[in-house]
Amino acid sequence: MEKPKLTIDEMATFCKRKGFVYPNSEIYGGIAGFYDFGHLGVELKNNIKKEWWKTFVMQRDDIVGIDGSIINHPMVWKASGHVEGFTDVIIDCKKCGLRFRADTLVADKLNIQTAGLSIEDISKKIKENKIKCQKCGSELGIPKQFNLMFSTNVGPMQSSSSVAYLRPETAQIIFTNFKLVQENARLKLPFGIAQVGKSFRNEISPREFLFRMREFEQMEIEYFVHPEKPDECVFIDEVMDYELNVYSAEMQKQNKKMQKMAIKECLSKKIIKTRWHGYWLALMHRWFVDLGASSEHFRIRQHVKDELSHYALDTWDLEYEFPFGWKELQGLSNRTDFDLKQHMEHSKTDLSIFDEDTKKKIIPHVICEPSQGVERAFLVFMFDAYNYDKARENVVLKLHPKLAPVKIGVFPLVSNKADLVKKARDAYDGLKKEWPCVFDLSGSIGRRYARADESGIYATVTVDFESLEDESVTIRSRDTTEQIRVKIKDLKEILGKFLDGEKLGKLGKGVE
Ligand SMILES: [Zn+2]
Repeated sequence: MEKPKLTIDEMATFCKRKGFVYPNSEIYGGIAGFYDFGHLGVELKNNIKKEWWKTFVMQRDDIVGIDGSIINHPMVWKASGHVEGFTDVIIDCKKCGLRFRADTLVADKLNIQTAGLSIEDISKKIKENKIKCQKCGSELGIPKQFNLMFSTNVGPMQSSSSVAYLRPETAQIIFTNFKLVQENARLKLPFGIAQVGKSFRNEISPREFLFRMREFEQMEIEYFVHPEKPDECVFIDEVMDYELNVYSAEMQKQNKKMQKMAIKECLSKKIIKTRWHGYWLALMHRWFVDLGASSEHFRIRQHVKDELSHYALDTWDLEYEFPFGWKELQGLSNRTDFDLKQHMEHSKTDLSIFDEDTKKKIIPHVICEPSQGVERAFLVFMFDAYNYDKARENVVLKLHPKLAPVKIGVFPLVSNKADLVKKARDAYDGLKKEWPCVFDLSGSIGRRYARADESGIYATVTVDFESLEDESVTIRSRDTTEQIRVKIKDLKEILGKFLDGEKLGKLGKGVE
Protein backbone atom coordinates (compact mmCIF):
# COMPACT_ATOMS: atom_id res chain seq x y z
CA MET A 1 0.00 0.00 0.00
CA GLU A 2 1.32 3.38 -1.00
CA LYS A 3 1.35 6.20 1.46
CA PRO A 4 1.18 9.55 -0.29
CA LYS A 5 2.53 12.45 1.68
CA LEU A 6 -0.31 14.61 2.79
CA THR A 7 0.39 18.31 3.15
CA ILE A 8 -0.56 20.04 6.39
CA ASP A 9 -3.37 21.89 4.58
CA GLU A 10 -4.75 18.63 3.24
CA MET A 11 -4.65 17.23 6.76
CA ALA A 12 -6.58 20.27 8.00
CA THR A 13 -9.19 19.70 5.28
CA PHE A 14 -9.46 16.01 6.15
CA CYS A 15 -9.82 16.80 9.87
CA LYS A 16 -12.63 19.24 9.15
CA ARG A 17 -14.44 16.94 6.73
CA LYS A 18 -14.45 14.02 9.16
CA GLY A 19 -15.30 16.04 12.29
CA PHE A 20 -11.92 15.99 14.02
CA VAL A 21 -10.97 19.67 14.03
CA TYR A 22 -12.69 22.89 12.98
CA PRO A 23 -11.25 26.39 12.63
CA ASN A 24 -12.56 28.35 15.63
CA SER A 25 -15.54 30.71 15.04
CA GLU A 26 -15.46 29.99 11.36
CA ILE A 27 -18.94 31.45 10.82
CA TYR A 28 -17.35 34.83 11.60
CA GLY A 29 -14.35 34.23 9.39
CA GLY A 30 -12.24 32.39 11.96
CA ILE A 31 -9.47 33.62 14.24
CA ALA A 32 -5.88 32.63 13.53
CA GLY A 33 -4.23 30.22 15.90
CA PHE A 34 -7.41 28.86 17.51
CA TYR A 35 -9.15 25.58 16.72
CA ASP A 36 -12.10 23.60 18.01
CA PHE A 37 -12.27 19.84 18.24
CA GLY A 38 -15.26 18.03 16.80
CA HIS A 39 -16.86 14.81 18.00
CA LEU A 40 -14.08 12.52 16.70
CA GLY A 41 -11.36 15.02 17.61
CA VAL A 42 -12.34 15.32 21.24
CA GLU A 43 -12.37 11.54 21.62
CA LEU A 44 -8.92 11.23 20.06
CA LYS A 45 -7.57 14.10 22.13
CA ASN A 46 -8.99 12.61 25.33
CA ASN A 47 -7.48 9.22 24.45
CA ILE A 48 -4.06 10.79 23.90
CA LYS A 49 -4.22 12.51 27.28
CA LYS A 50 -5.53 9.39 28.99
CA GLU A 51 -2.74 7.20 27.58
CA TRP A 52 -0.12 9.76 28.53
CA TRP A 53 -1.44 10.02 32.09
CA LYS A 54 -1.66 6.25 32.37
CA THR A 55 1.95 5.77 31.23
CA PHE A 56 3.61 8.59 33.10
CA VAL A 57 1.50 9.03 36.24
CA MET A 58 -0.80 6.11 36.98
CA GLN A 59 1.70 3.34 36.26
CA ARG A 60 4.61 4.99 38.06
CA ASP A 61 5.43 5.25 41.76
CA ASP A 62 7.66 8.30 41.37
CA ILE A 63 5.33 10.73 39.60
CA VAL A 64 2.15 12.41 40.86
CA GLY A 65 -0.14 14.86 39.14
CA ILE A 66 -1.60 18.31 39.71
CA ASP A 67 -4.09 20.47 37.85
CA GLY A 68 -3.14 24.11 38.25
CA SER A 69 -4.93 27.33 37.48
CA ILE A 70 -4.55 29.10 34.15
CA ILE A 71 -4.36 32.55 35.74
CA ASN A 72 -1.77 32.93 38.44
CA HIS A 73 -0.31 35.68 40.58
CA PRO A 74 1.61 37.93 38.15
CA MET A 75 4.72 37.53 40.29
CA VAL A 76 4.93 33.92 39.09
CA TRP A 77 5.79 35.19 35.62
CA LYS A 78 8.13 37.85 36.89
CA ALA A 79 10.09 35.26 38.86
CA SER A 80 10.14 32.83 35.95
CA GLY A 81 11.56 35.46 33.63
CA HIS A 82 8.58 35.48 31.29
CA VAL A 83 7.63 39.14 31.89
CA GLU A 84 11.14 40.20 30.90
CA GLY A 85 12.19 37.61 28.44
CA PHE A 86 9.33 35.63 26.91
CA THR A 87 9.54 37.64 23.73
CA ASP A 88 9.96 37.35 20.01
CA VAL A 89 11.60 39.99 17.89
CA ILE A 90 9.09 41.68 15.62
CA ILE A 91 9.40 44.12 12.79
CA ASP A 92 6.71 46.22 11.07
CA CYS A 93 6.44 47.26 7.45
CA LYS A 94 6.76 51.04 7.25
CA LYS A 95 4.14 51.29 4.54
CA CYS A 96 1.45 48.63 4.97
CA GLY A 97 2.03 48.07 8.68
CA LEU A 98 2.17 44.27 8.41
CA ARG A 99 4.02 42.72 11.31
CA PHE A 100 6.59 39.94 10.94
CA ARG A 101 8.63 37.82 13.27
CA ALA A 102 12.03 39.24 12.45
CA ASP A 103 14.06 36.11 13.13
CA THR A 104 11.93 33.82 10.97
CA LEU A 105 11.89 36.44 8.23
CA VAL A 106 15.70 36.46 8.23
CA ALA A 107 15.86 32.67 8.50
CA ASP A 108 13.51 32.19 5.53
CA LYS A 109 15.11 34.84 3.33
CA LEU A 110 18.74 33.92 3.98
CA ASN A 111 18.19 30.23 4.67
CA ILE A 112 20.21 30.34 7.91
CA GLN A 113 19.71 29.37 11.56
CA THR A 114 18.71 32.43 13.57
CA ALA A 115 18.34 30.87 17.02
CA GLY A 116 20.52 32.72 19.47
CA LEU A 117 20.93 35.85 17.35
CA SER A 118 20.53 39.11 19.26
CA ILE A 119 18.11 41.82 18.23
CA GLU A 120 21.11 43.82 16.95
CA ASP A 121 22.32 40.87 14.86
CA ILE A 122 18.89 40.51 13.31
CA SER A 123 18.62 44.21 12.62
CA LYS A 124 22.01 44.16 10.94
CA LYS A 125 21.11 41.19 8.77
CA ILE A 126 17.89 42.84 7.61
CA LYS A 127 19.76 46.04 6.66
CA GLU A 128 22.73 44.32 5.03
CA ASN A 129 20.60 42.03 2.93
CA LYS A 130 17.99 44.70 2.19
CA ILE A 131 15.15 42.44 3.35
CA LYS A 132 11.81 44.05 2.54
CA CYS A 133 8.14 43.57 3.46
CA GLN A 134 6.99 40.21 2.15
CA LYS A 135 3.62 41.61 1.18
CA CYS A 136 4.20 45.01 -0.41
CA GLY A 137 7.98 45.07 -0.84
CA SER A 138 8.45 48.29 1.16
CA GLU A 139 11.12 49.08 3.70
CA LEU A 140 10.87 47.59 7.19
CA GLY A 141 11.10 49.50 10.47
CA ILE A 142 13.27 48.81 13.50
CA PRO A 143 12.99 45.38 15.16
CA LYS A 144 11.64 45.35 18.71
CA GLN A 145 10.77 42.88 21.45
CA PHE A 146 7.20 41.61 21.70
CA ASN A 147 5.98 39.71 24.76
CA LEU A 148 4.05 36.56 23.87
CA MET A 149 1.94 36.38 27.02
CA PHE A 150 -1.76 37.19 26.80
CA SER A 151 -2.65 39.64 29.54
CA THR A 152 -6.01 40.28 31.17
CA ASN A 153 -7.33 42.14 34.20
CA VAL A 154 -8.43 40.40 37.36
CA GLY A 155 -11.23 41.94 39.45
CA PRO A 156 -13.56 44.86 38.78
CA MET A 157 -10.90 47.56 38.59
CA GLN A 158 -8.65 47.87 35.58
CA SER A 159 -5.26 49.25 36.47
CA SER A 160 -1.65 48.29 36.13
CA SER A 161 -1.91 46.40 39.42
CA SER A 162 -4.81 44.25 38.18
CA VAL A 163 -2.91 42.89 35.18
CA ALA A 164 -2.51 39.13 35.11
CA TYR A 165 -1.48 36.68 32.43
CA LEU A 166 -2.87 33.54 30.91
CA ARG A 167 -0.14 31.01 31.63
CA PRO A 168 2.28 30.58 28.72
CA GLU A 169 3.40 27.20 30.07
CA THR A 170 2.27 24.70 32.68
CA ALA A 171 5.71 24.26 34.25
CA GLN A 172 5.66 27.21 36.63
CA ILE A 173 2.51 26.03 38.41
CA ILE A 174 4.38 22.83 39.20
CA PHE A 175 7.19 24.88 40.79
CA THR A 176 4.87 27.10 42.84
CA ASN A 177 3.14 23.99 44.25
CA PHE A 178 6.35 22.01 44.52
CA LYS A 179 6.71 22.03 48.29
CA LEU A 180 3.08 21.16 49.08
CA VAL A 181 2.95 18.34 46.55
CA GLN A 182 6.24 16.90 47.74
CA GLU A 183 5.09 16.91 51.36
CA ASN A 184 1.55 15.66 50.75
CA ALA A 185 2.59 12.82 48.46
CA ARG A 186 5.67 12.12 50.64
CA LEU A 187 7.84 12.08 47.55
CA LYS A 188 11.49 11.15 47.82
CA LEU A 189 14.07 12.13 45.20
CA PRO A 190 14.15 11.35 42.38
CA PHE A 191 10.52 12.21 41.63
CA GLY A 192 8.34 14.02 39.15
CA ILE A 193 5.23 16.17 39.13
CA ALA A 194 2.99 16.03 36.08
CA GLN A 195 0.30 18.26 34.70
CA VAL A 196 -1.96 18.33 31.66
CA GLY A 197 -3.60 21.60 30.77
CA LYS A 198 -3.99 24.61 28.55
CA SER A 199 -1.37 27.22 27.82
CA PHE A 200 -1.58 30.39 25.80
CA ARG A 201 0.96 32.16 23.62
CA ASN A 202 0.26 35.19 21.49
CA GLU A 203 2.23 33.86 18.53
CA ILE A 204 2.97 36.50 15.92
CA SER A 205 2.34 34.15 13.06
CA PRO A 206 0.47 31.02 14.09
CA ARG A 207 0.78 28.49 11.31
CA GLU A 208 0.82 24.91 10.19
CA PHE A 209 -2.65 24.08 11.49
CA LEU A 210 -2.36 22.56 14.97
CA PHE A 211 1.41 22.85 15.04
CA ARG A 212 1.74 26.43 16.22
CA MET A 213 -1.39 27.63 17.97
CA ARG A 214 -2.20 30.49 20.32
CA GLU A 215 -4.22 28.31 22.66
CA PHE A 216 -2.96 24.77 23.14
CA GLU A 217 -2.64 22.01 25.68
CA GLN A 218 0.49 20.61 27.28
CA MET A 219 1.29 17.31 28.96
CA GLU A 220 4.25 18.05 31.13
CA ILE A 221 6.51 16.51 33.75
CA GLU A 222 9.07 18.29 35.86
CA TYR A 223 11.48 15.63 37.05
CA PHE A 224 13.53 16.44 40.16
CA VAL A 225 16.77 14.86 41.26
CA HIS A 226 19.24 15.31 44.11
CA PRO A 227 21.63 18.14 43.16
CA GLU A 228 24.63 16.01 44.04
CA LYS A 229 23.34 12.94 42.24
CA PRO A 230 22.47 14.28 38.80
CA ASP A 231 23.33 11.05 37.04
CA GLU A 232 21.93 8.33 39.29
CA CYS A 233 19.17 7.17 36.99
CA VAL A 234 17.69 4.15 38.71
CA PHE A 235 15.67 3.10 35.67
CA ILE A 236 18.35 3.30 32.98
CA ASP A 237 18.55 -0.49 32.43
CA GLU A 238 15.00 -0.45 31.05
CA VAL A 239 16.09 1.56 28.01
CA MET A 240 19.77 0.69 27.44
CA ASP A 241 19.02 -1.37 24.32
CA TYR A 242 16.34 0.97 23.01
CA GLU A 243 17.22 2.26 19.55
CA LEU A 244 16.30 5.54 17.95
CA ASN A 245 17.54 7.97 15.31
CA VAL A 246 20.13 10.27 16.87
CA TYR A 247 21.22 13.65 15.50
CA SER A 248 23.86 15.09 17.80
CA ALA A 249 25.26 18.64 17.79
CA GLU A 250 28.47 17.18 16.40
CA MET A 251 26.66 15.43 13.53
CA GLN A 252 24.92 18.70 12.69
CA LYS A 253 28.19 20.64 12.80
CA GLN A 254 29.89 18.18 10.48
CA ASN A 255 26.90 18.02 8.17
CA LYS A 256 26.48 14.31 8.79
CA LYS A 257 23.28 12.31 8.63
CA MET A 258 21.38 11.18 11.69
CA GLN A 259 22.26 7.72 12.89
CA LYS A 260 20.32 4.88 14.45
CA MET A 261 21.83 4.16 17.86
CA ALA A 262 21.00 2.42 21.11
CA ILE A 263 20.84 4.50 24.28
CA LYS A 264 23.80 2.61 25.76
CA GLU A 265 25.94 3.61 22.79
CA CYS A 266 24.89 7.25 23.11
CA LEU A 267 25.87 7.17 26.77
CA SER A 268 29.16 5.31 26.37
CA LYS A 269 30.22 7.69 23.60
CA LYS A 270 29.07 10.63 25.75
CA ILE A 271 26.78 11.91 23.01
CA ILE A 272 23.98 12.07 25.55
CA LYS A 273 25.59 13.49 28.65
CA THR A 274 23.36 12.28 31.44
CA ARG A 275 21.59 8.97 31.90
CA TRP A 276 18.40 10.73 32.91
CA HIS A 277 18.30 12.42 29.54
CA GLY A 278 18.85 9.11 27.77
CA TYR A 279 16.13 7.56 29.87
CA TRP A 280 13.51 10.23 29.25
CA LEU A 281 14.27 10.58 25.55
CA ALA A 282 13.81 6.85 25.09
CA LEU A 283 10.64 6.81 27.18
CA MET A 284 8.96 9.65 25.34
CA HIS A 285 9.95 8.17 21.98
CA ARG A 286 8.66 4.77 23.03
CA TRP A 287 5.34 6.25 24.12
CA PHE A 288 4.66 7.34 20.54
CA VAL A 289 5.86 4.06 19.05
CA ASP A 290 3.81 1.97 21.49
CA LEU A 291 0.74 3.87 20.33
CA GLY A 292 1.33 3.00 16.71
CA ALA A 293 3.61 5.72 15.35
CA SER A 294 6.54 4.59 13.20
CA SER A 295 9.96 4.85 14.84
CA GLU A 296 11.44 5.94 11.50
CA HIS A 297 9.52 9.21 11.58
CA PHE A 298 11.25 10.32 14.77
CA ARG A 299 14.70 11.45 15.78
CA ILE A 300 16.29 13.02 18.82
CA ARG A 301 18.27 16.16 18.07
CA GLN A 302 20.72 17.88 20.36
CA HIS A 303 20.62 21.67 20.50
CA VAL A 304 23.67 23.34 19.03
CA LYS A 305 25.37 25.90 21.24
CA ASP A 306 23.46 28.94 19.96
CA GLU A 307 20.07 27.40 20.63
CA LEU A 308 20.52 26.71 24.33
CA SER A 309 18.22 28.62 26.69
CA HIS A 310 19.57 30.72 29.51
CA TYR A 311 18.88 28.01 32.07
CA ALA A 312 19.76 24.90 30.11
CA LEU A 313 23.00 22.92 30.29
CA ASP A 314 22.11 20.46 27.58
CA THR A 315 18.92 20.22 25.56
CA TRP A 316 17.57 17.52 23.29
CA ASP A 317 14.47 17.73 21.18
CA LEU A 318 12.32 14.82 20.21
CA GLU A 319 11.48 15.60 16.60
CA TYR A 320 9.01 14.25 14.06
CA GLU A 321 9.22 14.43 10.30
CA PHE A 322 6.18 16.49 9.34
CA PRO A 323 5.37 17.25 5.68
CA PHE A 324 6.86 20.70 6.39
CA GLY A 325 10.11 19.28 7.76
CA TRP A 326 11.60 17.91 10.97
CA LYS A 327 9.94 19.75 13.84
CA GLU A 328 10.14 19.74 17.60
CA LEU A 329 7.63 17.65 19.52
CA GLN A 330 9.20 18.23 22.87
CA GLY A 331 12.33 19.70 24.31
CA LEU A 332 14.12 17.92 27.11
CA SER A 333 16.38 20.31 28.91
CA ASN A 334 18.24 20.28 32.17
CA ARG A 335 16.82 23.31 34.03
CA THR A 336 18.95 22.73 37.14
CA ASP A 337 17.57 24.61 40.19
CA PHE A 338 16.94 27.79 38.21
CA ASP A 339 13.16 27.89 38.66
CA LEU A 340 12.93 26.83 42.29
CA LYS A 341 15.65 29.35 43.21
CA GLN A 342 13.89 32.12 41.30
CA HIS A 343 10.64 31.43 43.15
CA MET A 344 12.44 31.21 46.51
CA GLU A 345 14.02 34.57 45.88
CA HIS A 346 10.88 36.35 44.67
CA SER A 347 8.41 34.79 47.12
CA LYS A 348 10.78 34.68 50.11
CA THR A 349 9.46 31.16 50.71
CA ASP A 350 11.69 28.24 51.48
CA LEU A 351 11.16 25.62 48.78
CA SER A 352 14.09 23.43 49.78
CA ILE A 353 13.50 19.91 50.99
CA PHE A 354 15.18 17.94 53.76
CA ASP A 355 17.63 15.28 52.71
CA GLU A 356 17.45 12.35 55.14
CA ASP A 357 20.87 11.02 54.13
CA THR A 358 22.92 14.12 54.68
CA LYS A 359 20.52 15.79 57.14
CA LYS A 360 20.79 18.91 55.07
CA LYS A 361 18.36 21.12 53.20
CA ILE A 362 18.70 20.82 49.48
CA ILE A 363 17.17 22.41 46.40
CA PRO A 364 16.48 19.67 43.86
CA HIS A 365 17.50 20.01 40.25
CA VAL A 366 15.10 19.59 37.36
CA ILE A 367 17.08 17.13 35.30
CA CYS A 368 14.44 16.93 32.61
CA GLU A 369 11.10 18.46 31.73
CA PRO A 370 9.42 16.32 29.13
CA SER A 371 6.68 18.60 27.83
CA GLN A 372 4.49 17.42 25.00
CA GLY A 373 1.92 19.54 23.20
CA VAL A 374 -1.30 17.54 22.99
CA GLU A 375 -2.16 18.96 19.56
CA ARG A 376 1.29 18.15 18.18
CA ALA A 377 0.88 14.56 19.38
CA PHE A 378 -2.57 14.62 17.77
CA LEU A 379 -0.99 15.62 14.43
CA VAL A 380 1.70 12.95 14.71
CA PHE A 381 -0.84 10.19 15.27
CA MET A 382 -3.06 11.47 12.46
CA PHE A 383 -0.21 11.68 9.96
CA ASP A 384 1.07 8.25 10.89
CA ALA A 385 -2.41 6.71 10.76
CA TYR A 386 -3.50 8.26 7.48
CA ASN A 387 -3.42 5.76 4.61
CA TYR A 388 -5.07 5.92 1.25
CA ASP A 389 -6.02 2.38 0.27
CA LYS A 390 -6.06 2.05 -3.51
CA ALA A 391 -7.95 -1.24 -3.55
CA ARG A 392 -10.66 0.04 -1.23
CA GLU A 393 -10.59 3.49 -2.86
CA ASN A 394 -10.90 5.21 0.46
CA VAL A 395 -8.80 6.54 3.31
CA VAL A 396 -8.10 4.09 6.11
CA LEU A 397 -7.21 5.87 9.32
CA LYS A 398 -5.13 3.27 11.10
CA LEU A 399 -5.15 4.74 14.57
CA HIS A 400 -4.02 2.44 17.39
CA PRO A 401 -7.06 0.81 19.03
CA LYS A 402 -6.29 2.70 22.24
CA LEU A 403 -6.48 5.99 20.35
CA ALA A 404 -9.29 5.27 17.88
CA PRO A 405 -12.04 7.80 18.69
CA VAL A 406 -14.76 5.26 17.97
CA LYS A 407 -13.89 1.62 18.59
CA ILE A 408 -16.82 -0.19 17.04
CA GLY A 409 -19.44 0.39 14.37
CA VAL A 410 -22.61 -1.72 14.35
CA PHE A 411 -24.36 -2.08 11.00
CA PRO A 412 -27.60 -3.89 10.18
CA LEU A 413 -27.13 -5.25 6.66
CA VAL A 414 -30.42 -3.73 5.51
CA SER A 415 -32.46 -0.92 6.99
CA ASN A 416 -35.94 -2.07 5.99
CA LYS A 417 -36.28 -5.26 8.00
CA ALA A 418 -37.49 -4.39 11.49
CA ASP A 419 -36.40 -7.54 13.35
CA LEU A 420 -32.92 -7.38 11.82
CA VAL A 421 -32.51 -3.70 12.71
CA LYS A 422 -33.71 -4.45 16.24
CA LYS A 423 -31.18 -7.24 16.67
CA ALA A 424 -28.41 -4.89 15.56
CA ARG A 425 -29.71 -2.16 17.83
CA ASP A 426 -29.70 -4.54 20.83
CA ALA A 427 -26.11 -5.55 20.11
CA TYR A 428 -25.14 -1.87 19.81
CA ASP A 429 -26.85 -1.00 23.10
CA GLY A 430 -24.80 -3.66 24.86
CA LEU A 431 -21.50 -2.62 23.30
CA LYS A 432 -21.84 1.12 23.84
CA LYS A 433 -21.70 0.58 27.61
CA GLU A 434 -18.10 -0.58 27.13
CA TRP A 435 -16.75 1.52 24.25
CA PRO A 436 -17.52 4.50 22.07
CA CYS A 437 -19.61 2.95 19.27
CA VAL A 438 -21.68 4.12 16.35
CA PHE A 439 -24.84 2.66 14.87
CA ASP A 440 -25.10 3.23 11.14
CA LEU A 441 -27.85 2.05 8.83
CA SER A 442 -27.68 4.55 6.01
CA GLY A 443 -26.27 3.69 2.59
CA SER A 444 -24.85 0.49 1.18
CA ILE A 445 -22.77 -1.72 3.46
CA GLY A 446 -19.67 -0.87 1.36
CA ARG A 447 -20.30 2.82 1.85
CA ARG A 448 -20.65 2.30 5.60
CA TYR A 449 -17.37 0.35 5.76
CA ALA A 450 -15.63 3.17 3.89
CA ARG A 451 -17.05 5.79 6.27
CA ALA A 452 -15.92 3.71 9.24
CA ASP A 453 -12.40 3.27 7.78
CA GLU A 454 -12.04 7.01 7.30
CA SER A 455 -13.09 7.69 10.89
CA GLY A 456 -10.61 5.14 12.20
CA ILE A 457 -13.31 2.82 13.63
CA TYR A 458 -11.30 -0.22 14.66
CA ALA A 459 -13.90 -2.95 14.13
CA THR A 460 -17.32 -3.17 12.59
CA VAL A 461 -20.07 -5.63 13.44
CA THR A 462 -22.57 -6.55 10.74
CA VAL A 463 -25.91 -8.09 11.57
CA ASP A 464 -27.42 -9.95 8.60
CA PHE A 465 -30.24 -12.36 7.72
CA GLU A 466 -28.33 -15.32 9.10
CA SER A 467 -28.05 -13.55 12.45
CA LEU A 468 -31.80 -13.92 12.86
CA GLU A 469 -31.45 -17.67 12.62
CA ASP A 470 -28.18 -18.55 14.35
CA GLU A 471 -27.50 -15.58 16.67
CA SER A 472 -24.15 -14.91 14.99
CA VAL A 473 -22.68 -11.76 13.44
CA THR A 474 -19.65 -10.75 11.39
CA ILE A 475 -16.75 -8.76 12.81
CA ARG A 476 -14.59 -6.93 10.26
CA SER A 477 -11.12 -5.56 10.90
CA ARG A 478 -10.47 -1.99 9.74
CA ASP A 479 -6.81 -2.62 8.99
CA THR A 480 -7.02 -5.90 7.08
CA THR A 481 -10.73 -6.14 6.08
CA GLU A 482 -10.51 -9.69 7.45
CA GLN A 483 -13.84 -10.98 8.75
CA ILE A 484 -14.85 -13.58 11.33
CA ARG A 485 -18.18 -15.01 12.40
CA VAL A 486 -18.99 -15.03 16.12
CA LYS A 487 -22.00 -15.59 18.37
CA ILE A 488 -23.69 -12.42 19.64
CA LYS A 489 -23.32 -13.58 23.23
CA ASP A 490 -19.51 -13.72 22.80
CA LEU A 491 -19.28 -10.36 21.05
CA LYS A 492 -18.15 -8.30 24.03
CA GLU A 493 -15.42 -10.72 25.04
CA ILE A 494 -14.07 -11.16 21.52
CA LEU A 495 -14.11 -7.46 20.69
CA GLY A 496 -12.35 -6.79 23.99
CA LYS A 497 -9.54 -9.15 23.00
CA PHE A 498 -9.36 -7.71 19.51
CA LEU A 499 -9.08 -4.18 20.89
CA ASP A 500 -6.33 -5.44 23.20
CA GLY A 501 -4.28 -6.36 20.17
CA GLU A 502 -5.09 -10.02 19.52
CA LYS A 503 -5.32 -11.13 15.88
CA LEU A 504 -8.85 -11.34 14.57
CA GLY A 505 -8.22 -14.67 12.83
CA LYS A 506 -7.47 -16.31 16.19
CA LEU A 507 -10.74 -15.16 17.74
CA GLY A 508 -13.29 -16.79 15.47
CA LYS A 509 -14.08 -18.59 12.26
CA GLY A 510 -12.96 -16.70 9.17
CA VAL A 511 -15.46 -15.81 6.47
CA GLU A 512 -14.78 -15.20 2.80
ZN1 LIG B 1 4.30 46.09 3.54
